[in-house]
Amino acid sequence: MSEYFNVSEIFGENVFNDSVMQERLPKKVYKKLKEVIQEDREMDLETADVVAHEMKEWAIEKGATHYTHWFQPLTGVTAEKHDSFITAPMPSGKVLMSFSGKELIKGEPDASSFPSGGLRATFEARGYTAWDCTSPAFVRQDAAGATLCIPTAFCSYTGEALDQKTPLLRSMEAINQQSLRLIRLFGNTTSKRVTPSVGAEQEYFLVDHEKYLKRKDLVFTGRTLFGAMPPKGQEMDDHYFGAIRERIAAYMRDVNKELWKLGVSAKTQHNEVAPAQHELAPIYAEVNIAVDHNQLVMETLKKVAGRHGLRCLLHEKPFAGVNGSGKHNNWSIITDDGINMLDPGKTPHENIQFLLVLTCILKAVDKHADLLRESAADAGNDHRLGANEAPPAVISIYLGEQLQDVMSQLISTGEATRSLKGEVLQTGVKSLPDFMKDATDRNRTSPFAFTGNKFEFRMVGSNDSIAAPNVVLNTIVAEAFSDACDILESADDFEEAVHDLIKKQASEHQRIVFNGNGYSEEWIEEAQRRGLPNINNLVDAVPALTTEKAVALFEKFNVFTQAELESRGEILYENYAKALNIEARTMIDMAGKQIIPAVIKYTSTLANSINGVKAACDADVSVQIGLLKEVSNLLAEAKKALTKLCEAADQAGAMEVGREQAICCRDQIKTAMEALRKPIDQLEMIVDKEMWPMPSYGDLIFEV
Ligand code: ADP
Ligand code: MG
Repeated sequence: MSEYFNVSEIFGENVFNDSVMQERLPKKVYKKLKEVIQEDREMDLETADVVAHEMKEWAIEKGATHYTHWFQPLTGVTAEKHDSFITAPMPSGKVLMSFSGKELIKGEPDASSFPSGGLRATFEARGYTAWDCTSPAFVRQDAAGATLCIPTAFCSYTGEALDQKTPLLRSMEAINQQSLRLIRLFGNTTSKRVTPSVGAEQEYFLVDHEKYLKRKDLVFTGRTLFGAMPPKGQEMDDHYFGAIRERIAAYMRDVNKELWKLGVSAKTQHNEVAPAQHELAPIYAEVNIAVDHNQLVMETLKKVAGRHGLRCLLHEKPFAGVNGSGKHNNWSIITDDGINMLDPGKTPHENIQFLLVLTCILKAVDKHADLLRESAADAGNDHRLGANEAPPAVISIYLGEQLQDVMSQLISTGEATRSLKGEVLQTGVKSLPDFMKDATDRNRTSPFAFTGNKFEFRMVGSNDSIAAPNVVLNTIVAEAFSDACDILESADDFEEAVHDLIKKQASEHQRIVFNGNGYSEEWIEEAQRRGLPNINNLVDAVPALTTEKAVALFEKFNVFTQAELESRGEILYENYAKALNIEARTMIDMAGKQIIPAVIKYTSTLANSINGVKAACDADVSVQIGLLKEVSNLLAEAKKALTKLCEAADQAGAMEVGREQAICCRDQIKTAMEALRKPIDQLEMIVDKEMWPMPSYGDLIFEV
């Protein structure tokens, strides 16, 4: 039976948010903490002690017994180490519950178990977590009890970033500074801080838990490694569909409730293209909070599924031939007093600033398309980007008709720039009507689309953190702003200089703009003519991290050192090789222990039937014989492919971790996996369903 709840009552009830702090902290401490949060001041221990104490008291009221520094190492999932609040027993035998400022600010997890890509030799395993007071602490309640979770950054002892959050916070600082520079040029003297805002739409699949457990590939790798497509035109009967809806609706309701308690503003939910696919989108938030919230969304989707006899699949491509899952990263830059720099605005003055911002983004994305692509690279996403489906692996920007028109005018009406200032700007501006949210902004095939007052980066994988793409976005746009400000700050005639710069940037980076169908073959060819990179796999994407231009960019804005960039590349290769190795081993196991034995059983049934029928009446058994031959041939092909896959896996397994190994996985293992899958999927279509050792695509996707 449903339990009813009042959203406004439960929203944020488990978050140590601003109103809780205001209520609980002494005025002076609250004020200090706000300064630390808003103005990047250092936190003193005295303040931290008081905050920690109140946080603990509050958490205990919510039932918390433990606290954890909650962080995002480079494994893709969040990590935590739980400590209880209890102190050593007192002489009376009782214990106290304590939590100090020091414990709040800094933790020391065993860093050796997290990837560091060579940044930290294992004998120097120390790393530490540092409180990120800009993302609020929260209490998570589940079967394990209640835990106070403190969002933290994770660094090596020498200060190198070992996580997603550290570079993200650094990149936020970069874009803050450069954005302030830019808006000051346009006369804004009041805004104090500029922060990227992000809303991440999350796609996922739901399958039945019992069926999930019968598929080792789903259990070990998160995706199916075998599976023939269900018969075309499989129709659902309405009644049945209604029942599915109810189960899913109950699940979504539960997910929303959990998220609301955690202060995540889950807003929209709907069914996606594929039958068992769904989407959840929160209301946008400041980027570091949006990143943390997206982790919470993923955790919650998985956790709540268990309670409903379901399993949530976050893999980018759980089923070959069926639409995959991604994440749309909606990004804009907003001042502390609410001005969205990506909002075209209504006055000419705002329009000019907007056009400058827009052309800076064109420049940033054009110059660093390879980095953006890299930021969305993970083993799972290789099955989407540039493989069988959208978005394409080529980065391009969709502007929409209206904006494109403005751009074209800017580029073609050359005289406008050279005429007198003021007047010309105004004529230019007259051709810029209100940029209303464009009704034609429904281009779904673009990887990077302007949608009214934000950009939507659609390449991110469903299973990946959104941190890396936002680090790249923030930093490349900061660079373009910085370049623009360098020119404009020293210009004698600002108006003319800004006009020239807009025109220059629009012209020079037109090649990145594409408003057509991004899925078409012609576009891929056109993109090649334009010289846009088309990187369709992780191994080819990683080198973008350490090009000269990337190192210069990230070092200039103190986001990554070269060593940090190199380590990230190493980790990507390592994670990729690991993922492929697990997939290969799982396939070998399933084919060798489940599928081939089942097929052999089926061949004996066929053989027996042939002999039986012949003995009984000497009837025509050509059908059975034909089938037996077909199955036996495919079986032989499968066995051969299995042997090859074993060899490839052994070869890669024997290699040293790094790029060469990743290449071997991509070229040898992947090919061998495909070769094995082919005959087995064909066999699945022939062999008696009763004998097939695992649920089919149809069972998994249609019968949730
Ligand atoms: P779609 O048409 O793609 O479904 P929506 O307009 O519903 O998109 O918004 C999708 C996501 O974009 C939501 O998470 C929403 O909160 C977020 N969003 C809306 N405006 C902004 C903005 N200015 N900056 C960042 N994200 C935004
Ligand atoms: Mg979207």
